[in-house]
Amino acid sequence: MHPFTFSRATHLAAAISAHAQDPQLAFIAGGTDLIGLMKDRAIVPDRLLDINGLADMSRIEVLPDGGLRIGALARMSDVAADAEVRRRFPVIAESLLFAASGQLRNMASMGGNIMQRTRCAYFRDEDDLPCNKRRPGSGCSALYGLNRNHAIFGWSDECVATHPSDVAVAFAALDAKVLVHGTGGERVILFNDFHRLPGKTPERDTVLDRGDLIVAIEIPARAEGRASHYLKVRDRESYEFALVSAAAAVAIDHGRIASSRLALGGVAHKPWRLWTAEAALRGLSLRELDALKAAIATSFTDARPLTHNVFKAELAQRVALRALQIAGERA
Ligand SMILES: Cc1cc2nc3c(=O)[nH]c(=O)nc-3n(C[C@H](O)[C@H](O)[C@H](O)COP(=O)(O)OP(=O)(O)OC[C@H]3O[C@@H](n4cnc5c(N)ncnc54)[C@H](O)[C@@H]3O)c2cc1C
Ligand code: SF4
Repeated sequence: MHPFTFSRATHLAAAISAHAQDPQLAFIAGGTDLIGLMKDRAIVPDRLLDINGLADMSRIEVLPDGGLRIGALARMSDVAADAEVRRRFPVIAESLLFAASGQLRNMASMGGNIMQRTRCAYFRDEDDLPCNKRRPGSGCSALYGLNRNHAIFGWSDECVATHPSDVAVAFAALDAKVLVHGTGGERVILFNDFHRLPGKTPERDTVLDRGDLIVAIEIPARAEGRASHYLKVRDRESYEFALVSAAAAVAIDHGRIASSRLALGGVAHKPWRLWTAEAALRGLSLRELDALKAAIATSFTDARPLTHNVFKAELAQRVALRALQIAGERA
């Protein structure tokens, strides 16, 4: 294990300034991803700054418009159990409950969750196999290697990894916002702009810069919020990352879809929103099965499966459809 020092942050501005000035310093919240990455030597910070003592960052609040503000230090288990979260946005609570294990959810923070790094086995491999995300310029072992769990959308020759967070998929579907404090003050990042596609710089997962600290995630009030569902397909039921998942939310008017929100997990370097399908679904009844399938298929014309994950294109469409149907039953 790489040696490191550990200190505790008590003031937001000081934490931001320390992180901005010191490239070897990492924020630590629950530590459930960071410590694993350090053991695998995928990242080797010299200094850890514990942010758990920062004030006002673990609250879960209802906003005046009926939306929610979830502090970055709120624990996954607390958010999943919160009555307002469950009532207003079941898709958020479900995505959290299907993630990790009970013990992990008690430790893991919401900020850390959306910052967690890919589970690509080559990235996590302590033997330091070629991986552009781990060691830029070294190559991508997964492109022609084992890529069953990898992307079918938006990948580049530099990296075909997927983003692993479940709740990020729900946040993407709901057009959440990430509230960030940095050296230039506070800014708001739309959730769909928060994670990046790999392009030529797969080592960068998000648009955050040094000195940026996530303080909260806001979910605006949504007509579709209550009729929402998260469906996750994984290789084992006990606890496992998503092979493919879908967050769906829908508003029904006179038996027809007035609006819908659909995002997929396990298929791209970021949560993958099905924008085209959402437009094509408008006006359909949830009973028109063939039309629903055709509408969802419009978002798959640019799918590019790899050698071992051709099945994902079909699976993802089925998961999206089923998630939509279950969400619709709640409308
Ligand atoms: C065995 C196992 C199974 C898992 N299964 C799932 C699963 O099925 N689904 C799922 O979604 N997740 C899963 N996870 C991941 C887990 O949810 C994350 O590890 C956890 O949410 C990370 O939160 P943390 O507070 O522990 O983050 P940390 O490990 O403390 O930090 C993670 C990263 O986030 C950064 N960070 C933390 N807080 C902030 C902040 N406020 N601002 C800026 N940067 C910050 C840290 O610097 C670090 O880079 C699993 C993890 C394990 C170990
Ligand atoms: S897919 Fe990305 S993370 Fe995995 S080996 Fe290739 S570059 Fe590394």
